[in-house]
Amino acid sequence: MAQIIDGNRVRDEIKEELKPRIARLAQRKRVPGLAVVLVGHNPASEVYVRSKMKTCHELGMCSENITPPDSITTEELLAIVNQLNEREEVDGILVQLPLPKQVDSKRILQAIAPEKDVDGFHPFNVGCLVTGVPAPRPCTPAGIIELLKRYNIPIFGKRAVMVGRSDIVGKPTALMLMQEHATVTICHSKTTELASICRQADILAVAIGRPALLTGEYIKPGATVIDVGVNSLTNREDVSRIFRNSSERLAAFDRKGSVLVGDLDPIDVAEKSSSYTPVPGGVGPLTIAMLMVNTVESAERRLGVC
Ligand code: NDP
Repeated sequence: MAQIIDGNRVRDEIKEELKPRIARLAQRKRVPGLAVVLVGHNPASEVYVRSKMKTCHELGMCSENITPPDSITTEELLAIVNQLNEREEVDGILVQLPLPKQVDSKRILQAIAPEKDVDGFHPFNVGCLVTGVPAPRPCTPAGIIELLKRYNIPIFGKRAVMVGRSDIVGKPTALMLMQEHATVTICHSKTTELASICRQADILAVAIGRPALLTGEYIKPGATVIDVGVNSLTNREDVSRIFRNSSERLAAFDRKGSVLVGDLDPIDVAEKSSSYTPVPGGVGPLTIAMLMVNTVESAERRLGVC
Protein backbone atom coordinates (compact mmCIF):
# COMPACT_ATOMS: atom_id res chain seq x y z
CA MET A 1 0.00 0.00 0.00
CA ALA A 2 1.44 3.36 -1.00
CA GLN A 3 2.15 5.91 1.69
CA ILE A 4 0.09 9.09 1.49
CA ILE A 5 2.19 12.22 1.96
CA ASP A 6 -0.10 14.25 4.16
CA GLY A 7 0.35 17.94 3.39
CA ASN A 8 -2.09 19.03 6.08
CA ARG A 9 -0.02 17.29 8.75
CA VAL A 10 3.25 18.83 7.52
CA ARG A 11 1.60 22.25 7.25
CA ASP A 12 0.47 22.00 10.89
CA GLU A 13 3.97 20.94 11.99
CA ILE A 14 5.51 23.92 10.21
CA LYS A 15 2.98 26.30 11.75
CA GLU A 16 3.73 24.95 15.24
CA GLU A 17 7.46 25.45 14.63
CA LEU A 18 6.86 29.05 13.61
CA LYS A 19 4.98 29.98 16.80
CA PRO A 20 8.02 30.30 19.13
CA ARG A 21 9.87 32.26 16.44
CA ILE A 22 6.95 34.67 16.12
CA ALA A 23 6.75 34.92 19.93
CA ARG A 24 10.45 35.82 20.06
CA LEU A 25 9.83 38.62 17.57
CA ALA A 26 6.74 39.72 19.52
CA GLN A 27 8.94 40.14 22.62
CA ARG A 28 10.69 42.83 20.62
CA LYS A 29 7.25 44.38 20.10
CA ARG A 30 7.41 43.58 16.42
CA VAL A 31 5.41 40.64 14.99
CA PRO A 32 6.04 39.75 11.33
CA GLY A 33 3.88 41.69 8.88
CA LEU A 34 2.60 40.54 5.50
CA ALA A 35 0.95 42.88 2.98
CA VAL A 36 -1.10 41.26 0.24
CA VAL A 37 -2.20 43.28 -2.77
CA LEU A 38 -5.31 41.85 -4.40
CA VAL A 39 -6.39 43.73 -7.51
CA GLY A 40 -10.07 43.54 -8.55
CA HIS A 41 -12.45 40.66 -7.88
CA ASN A 42 -11.05 37.35 -9.11
CA PRO A 43 -13.02 34.75 -7.05
CA ALA A 44 -10.14 32.19 -6.98
CA SER A 45 -7.64 34.88 -5.91
CA GLU A 46 -10.05 36.09 -3.23
CA VAL A 47 -10.20 32.55 -1.77
CA TYR A 48 -6.37 32.26 -1.74
CA VAL A 49 -5.93 35.69 -0.16
CA ARG A 50 -8.54 35.00 2.54
CA SER A 51 -6.72 31.81 3.39
CA LYS A 52 -3.36 33.64 3.63
CA MET A 53 -4.87 36.31 5.90
CA LYS A 54 -6.52 33.67 8.07
CA THR A 55 -3.21 31.81 8.53
CA CYS A 56 -1.42 35.07 9.47
CA HIS A 57 -4.16 35.72 12.01
CA GLU A 58 -3.93 32.19 13.50
CA LEU A 59 -0.18 32.61 13.94
CA GLY A 60 -0.50 36.05 15.51
CA MET A 61 1.18 37.79 12.59
CA CYS A 62 0.07 41.15 11.17
CA SER A 63 -1.56 41.10 7.80
CA GLU A 64 -2.92 43.79 5.57
CA ASN A 65 -5.01 43.36 2.45
CA ILE A 66 -4.82 46.16 -0.09
CA THR A 67 -7.58 45.93 -2.69
CA PRO A 68 -7.22 48.37 -5.57
CA PRO A 69 -9.85 48.24 -8.36
CA ASP A 70 -9.56 46.25 -11.60
CA SER A 71 -8.99 49.49 -13.51
CA ILE A 72 -5.66 50.23 -11.78
CA THR A 73 -2.73 51.22 -14.00
CA THR A 74 0.83 49.92 -13.81
CA GLU A 75 2.01 53.28 -12.45
CA GLU A 76 -0.64 53.32 -9.72
CA LEU A 77 0.20 49.78 -8.65
CA LEU A 78 3.91 50.62 -8.68
CA ALA A 79 3.17 53.48 -6.29
CA ILE A 80 1.42 51.06 -3.89
CA VAL A 81 4.35 48.62 -4.04
CA ASN A 82 6.85 51.44 -3.46
CA GLN A 83 4.96 52.60 -0.37
CA LEU A 84 4.98 49.05 1.01
CA ASN A 85 8.71 48.79 0.29
CA GLU A 86 9.26 51.87 2.48
CA ARG A 87 7.14 50.75 5.42
CA GLU A 88 9.25 49.43 8.28
CA GLU A 89 6.59 47.12 9.75
CA VAL A 90 5.95 45.32 6.43
CA ASP A 91 8.28 42.30 6.16
CA GLY A 92 6.62 40.58 3.24
CA ILE A 93 4.86 41.89 0.13
CA LEU A 94 2.81 39.65 -2.09
CA VAL A 95 1.03 40.82 -5.21
CA GLN A 96 -1.60 38.20 -5.99
CA LEU A 97 -1.45 37.00 -9.60
CA PRO A 98 -2.94 37.13 -12.16
CA LEU A 99 -3.08 40.91 -12.61
CA PRO A 100 -5.46 42.67 -15.05
CA LYS A 101 -4.28 42.76 -18.68
CA GLN A 102 -3.40 46.48 -18.69
CA VAL A 103 -0.91 45.99 -15.84
CA ASP A 104 2.70 45.07 -16.61
CA SER A 105 3.09 42.15 -14.17
CA LYS A 106 6.86 41.85 -14.70
CA ARG A 107 7.43 45.50 -13.78
CA ILE A 108 5.31 45.08 -10.66
CA LEU A 109 7.10 41.95 -9.46
CA GLN A 110 10.48 43.57 -10.13
CA ALA A 111 9.49 46.63 -8.09
CA ILE A 112 9.06 44.61 -4.88
CA ALA A 113 12.13 45.00 -2.66
CA PRO A 114 13.91 41.61 -2.97
CA GLU A 115 14.23 41.24 0.81
CA LYS A 116 10.43 41.60 1.13
CA ASP A 117 9.65 39.36 -1.86
CA VAL A 118 8.09 36.49 0.11
CA ASP A 119 6.88 34.80 -3.09
CA GLY A 120 10.50 34.49 -4.26
CA PHE A 121 9.60 35.64 -7.80
CA HIS A 122 11.91 38.69 -8.05
CA PRO A 123 14.72 38.12 -10.58
CA PHE A 124 17.27 38.86 -7.84
CA ASN A 125 15.87 36.03 -5.70
CA VAL A 126 15.61 33.75 -8.73
CA GLY A 127 19.32 34.43 -9.30
CA CYS A 128 20.01 33.58 -5.65
CA LEU A 129 18.15 30.30 -6.10
CA VAL A 130 20.14 29.46 -9.23
CA THR A 131 23.45 30.20 -7.51
CA GLY A 132 22.52 28.61 -4.19
CA VAL A 133 22.58 31.84 -2.17
CA PRO A 134 20.10 31.97 0.77
CA ALA A 135 17.07 34.12 -0.15
CA PRO A 136 13.27 33.78 -0.16
CA ARG A 137 12.37 30.67 -2.15
CA PRO A 138 9.16 30.24 -4.20
CA CYS A 139 6.60 28.76 -1.80
CA THR A 140 5.17 25.76 -3.66
CA PRO A 141 8.59 24.34 -4.70
CA ALA A 142 9.98 24.95 -1.20
CA GLY A 143 6.92 23.11 0.15
CA ILE A 144 7.62 20.13 -2.11
CA ILE A 145 11.16 19.83 -0.72
CA GLU A 146 9.79 20.07 2.84
CA LEU A 147 7.34 17.24 2.13
CA LEU A 148 10.08 14.99 0.75
CA LYS A 149 12.44 15.71 3.65
CA ARG A 150 9.87 15.35 6.39
CA TYR A 151 8.77 12.01 4.96
CA ASN A 152 12.44 10.93 4.79
CA ILE A 153 12.22 10.34 1.07
CA PRO A 154 15.78 10.20 -0.26
CA ILE A 155 16.61 12.83 -2.89
CA PHE A 156 20.42 12.55 -2.92
CA GLY A 157 21.56 10.67 -6.02
CA LYS A 158 18.00 9.88 -7.12
CA ARG A 159 16.54 10.43 -10.56
CA ALA A 160 13.91 13.16 -10.51
CA VAL A 161 11.66 14.17 -13.39
CA MET A 162 9.85 17.51 -13.28
CA VAL A 163 6.98 17.75 -15.77
CA GLY A 164 6.16 21.44 -16.28
CA ARG A 165 8.59 24.34 -16.63
CA SER A 166 6.71 27.34 -15.27
CA ASP A 167 8.60 30.07 -13.44
CA ILE A 168 6.55 29.56 -10.29
CA VAL A 169 6.57 25.77 -9.98
CA GLY A 170 8.44 23.68 -12.57
CA LYS A 171 11.76 25.52 -12.92
CA PRO A 172 12.32 26.34 -9.24
CA THR A 173 11.29 22.83 -8.15
CA ALA A 174 13.78 21.32 -10.61
CA LEU A 175 16.54 23.63 -9.30
CA MET A 176 15.79 22.77 -5.69
CA LEU A 177 15.80 19.05 -6.44
CA MET A 178 19.16 19.48 -8.16
CA GLN A 179 20.50 21.39 -5.15
CA GLU A 180 19.48 18.39 -3.05
CA HIS A 181 21.68 16.34 -5.43
CA ALA A 182 19.02 14.62 -7.50
CA THR A 183 19.70 14.08 -11.20
CA VAL A 184 16.92 16.14 -12.71
CA THR A 185 15.17 16.09 -16.09
CA ILE A 186 12.71 18.86 -16.94
CA CYS A 187 9.86 18.05 -19.34
CA HIS A 188 7.20 20.23 -20.95
CA SER A 189 4.54 20.23 -23.63
CA LYS A 190 7.06 19.75 -26.44
CA THR A 191 8.87 16.82 -24.80
CA THR A 192 8.81 13.65 -26.89
CA GLU A 193 8.53 10.21 -25.31
CA LEU A 194 7.30 11.75 -22.08
CA ALA A 195 6.08 8.42 -20.65
CA SER A 196 9.43 6.68 -21.00
CA ILE A 197 11.26 9.64 -19.39
CA CYS A 198 8.77 9.73 -16.51
CA ARG A 199 9.15 5.99 -15.99
CA GLN A 200 12.83 6.56 -15.13
CA ALA A 201 11.91 8.80 -12.21
CA ASP A 202 12.44 7.81 -8.59
CA ILE A 203 10.75 11.12 -7.85
CA LEU A 204 8.13 12.23 -10.36
CA ALA A 205 6.85 15.79 -9.84
CA VAL A 206 4.10 17.05 -12.13
CA ALA A 207 2.77 20.61 -12.50
CA ILE A 208 0.97 20.93 -15.83
CA GLY A 209 -2.64 21.80 -15.00
CA ARG A 210 -4.15 18.93 -17.05
CA PRO A 211 -6.70 16.82 -15.16
CA ALA A 212 -5.47 13.25 -14.53
CA LEU A 213 -3.46 13.33 -17.77
CA LEU A 214 -0.57 11.15 -16.65
CA THR A 215 -1.62 7.55 -16.12
CA GLY A 216 0.09 4.46 -14.72
CA GLU A 217 2.34 4.04 -17.77
CA TYR A 218 4.17 7.25 -16.70
CA ILE A 219 5.00 5.93 -13.24
CA LYS A 220 7.93 3.69 -12.32
CA PRO A 221 6.68 1.10 -9.81
CA GLY A 222 7.70 2.25 -6.34
CA ALA A 223 8.35 5.89 -7.33
CA THR A 224 7.47 8.88 -5.18
CA VAL A 225 4.87 10.98 -6.97
CA ILE A 226 4.35 14.68 -6.26
CA ASP A 227 1.18 15.93 -7.93
CA VAL A 228 1.09 19.73 -7.91
CA GLY A 229 -1.87 20.09 -10.27
CA VAL A 230 -5.17 21.40 -8.99
CA ASN A 231 -7.94 20.89 -11.54
CA SER A 232 -11.65 21.21 -11.02
CA LEU A 233 -13.80 18.53 -12.65
CA THR A 234 -17.22 19.95 -13.48
CA ASN A 235 -18.50 17.09 -15.61
CA ARG A 236 -20.01 14.07 -13.81
CA GLU A 237 -18.83 11.64 -16.50
CA ASP A 238 -15.23 12.76 -16.03
CA VAL A 239 -15.53 12.22 -12.27
CA SER A 240 -16.99 8.77 -12.84
CA ARG A 241 -14.26 7.80 -15.35
CA ILE A 242 -11.29 9.23 -13.46
CA PHE A 243 -12.35 7.94 -10.04
CA ARG A 244 -13.60 4.58 -11.48
CA ASN A 245 -17.19 5.13 -10.41
CA SER A 246 -16.28 5.92 -6.80
CA SER A 247 -19.59 6.48 -5.01
CA GLU A 248 -17.84 8.78 -2.52
CA ARG A 249 -16.51 11.09 -5.24
CA LEU A 250 -19.74 11.05 -7.19
CA ALA A 251 -21.65 11.98 -4.04
CA ALA A 252 -19.18 14.83 -3.44
CA PHE A 253 -19.72 15.98 -7.01
CA ASP A 254 -23.50 15.84 -6.61
CA ARG A 255 -23.22 17.94 -3.45
CA LYS A 256 -20.78 20.58 -4.69
CA GLY A 257 -21.01 20.49 -8.48
CA SER A 258 -17.27 19.89 -8.84
CA VAL A 259 -14.46 17.67 -7.61
CA LEU A 260 -10.73 18.38 -7.54
CA VAL A 261 -8.19 16.18 -9.24
CA GLY A 262 -4.45 16.51 -9.83
CA ASP A 263 -2.43 16.07 -13.00
CA LEU A 264 -2.04 12.33 -12.50
CA ASP A 265 -4.59 9.56 -12.55
CA PRO A 266 -5.33 9.25 -8.81
CA ILE A 267 -6.11 5.52 -8.83
CA ASP A 268 -3.00 4.59 -10.84
CA VAL A 269 -0.80 6.75 -8.58
CA ALA A 270 -2.11 5.00 -5.46
CA GLU A 271 -1.50 1.60 -7.08
CA LYS A 272 1.96 2.12 -8.60
CA SER A 273 3.82 4.59 -6.38
CA SER A 274 5.44 3.92 -3.02
CA SER A 275 4.36 7.33 -1.73
CA TYR A 276 2.36 10.18 -3.18
CA THR A 277 0.76 13.53 -2.50
CA PRO A 278 -3.05 13.40 -2.76
CA VAL A 279 -5.12 16.15 -4.37
CA PRO A 280 -6.38 17.94 -2.38
CA GLY A 281 -4.35 17.72 0.83
CA GLY A 282 -0.86 17.13 -0.59
CA VAL A 283 1.23 19.99 -1.98
CA GLY A 284 -1.52 22.63 -1.68
CA PRO A 285 -1.39 23.21 2.11
CA LEU A 286 2.37 23.73 1.96
CA THR A 287 2.19 26.79 -0.26
CA ILE A 288 0.70 29.02 2.43
CA ALA A 289 2.83 27.41 5.16
CA MET A 290 6.00 28.30 3.23
CA LEU A 291 4.70 31.82 2.66
CA MET A 292 4.50 32.15 6.44
CA VAL A 293 8.04 30.74 6.78
CA ASN A 294 9.33 33.27 4.23
CA THR A 295 7.58 36.13 6.04
CA VAL A 296 8.94 35.12 9.47
CA GLU A 297 12.44 34.69 8.02
CA SER A 298 12.21 38.11 6.41
CA ALA A 299 11.21 39.67 9.75
CA GLU A 300 14.06 37.83 11.53
CA ARG A 301 16.58 38.97 8.93
CA ARG A 302 15.38 42.56 8.98
CA LEU A 303 15.44 42.69 12.79
CA GLY A 304 18.72 40.82 13.08
CA VAL A 305 17.09 37.95 15.05
CA CYS A 306 18.48 34.80 13.48
P1 NDP B 1 1.62 26.79 -16.18
O1 NDP B 1 0.43 26.75 -17.05
O2 NDP B 1 2.33 28.07 -15.96
O3 NDP B 1 2.69 25.73 -16.75
C1 NDP B 1 2.29 24.48 -17.17
C2 NDP B 1 3.48 23.72 -17.66
O4 NDP B 1 3.05 22.41 -18.03
C3 NDP B 1 4.16 24.34 -18.89
O5 NDP B 1 5.55 24.26 -18.74
C4 NDP B 1 3.69 23.44 -20.03
O6 NDP B 1 4.64 23.28 -21.05
C5 NDP B 1 3.52 22.11 -19.32
N1 NDP B 1 2.54 21.25 -19.97
C6 NDP B 1 1.27 21.56 -20.32
N2 NDP B 1 0.68 20.50 -20.90
C7 NDP B 1 1.59 19.53 -20.95
C8 NDP B 1 1.59 18.21 -21.45
N3 NDP B 1 0.51 17.68 -22.05
N4 NDP B 1 2.70 17.47 -21.33
C9 NDP B 1 3.81 17.97 -20.73
N5 NDP B 1 3.87 19.22 -20.24
C10 NDP B 1 2.78 19.99 -20.35
O7 NDP B 1 1.15 26.13 -14.82
P2 NDP B 1 1.71 26.26 -13.31
O8 NDP B 1 3.08 25.73 -13.21
O9 NDP B 1 1.40 27.62 -12.78
O10 NDP B 1 0.69 25.28 -12.58
C11 NDP B 1 0.59 23.92 -12.91
C12 NDP B 1 -0.48 23.27 -12.07
O11 NDP B 1 -0.12 23.38 -10.70
C13 NDP B 1 -1.87 23.93 -12.16
O12 NDP B 1 -2.85 22.91 -12.05
C14 NDP B 1 -1.93 24.83 -10.96
O13 NDP B 1 -3.25 25.04 -10.51
C15 NDP B 1 -1.15 24.01 -9.97
N6 NDP B 1 -0.55 24.81 -8.90
C16 NDP B 1 -0.76 24.38 -7.62
C17 NDP B 1 -0.21 25.07 -6.57
C18 NDP B 1 -0.45 24.56 -5.21
O14 NDP B 1 -0.27 25.30 -4.25
N7 NDP B 1 -0.82 23.30 -5.05
C19 NDP B 1 0.57 26.28 -6.76
C20 NDP B 1 0.81 26.59 -8.16
C21 NDP B 1 0.24 25.88 -9.17
P3 NDP B 1 5.13 24.50 -22.01
O15 NDP B 1 6.08 25.31 -21.17
O16 NDP B 1 5.78 23.83 -23.14
O17 NDP B 1 3.88 25.26 -22.35
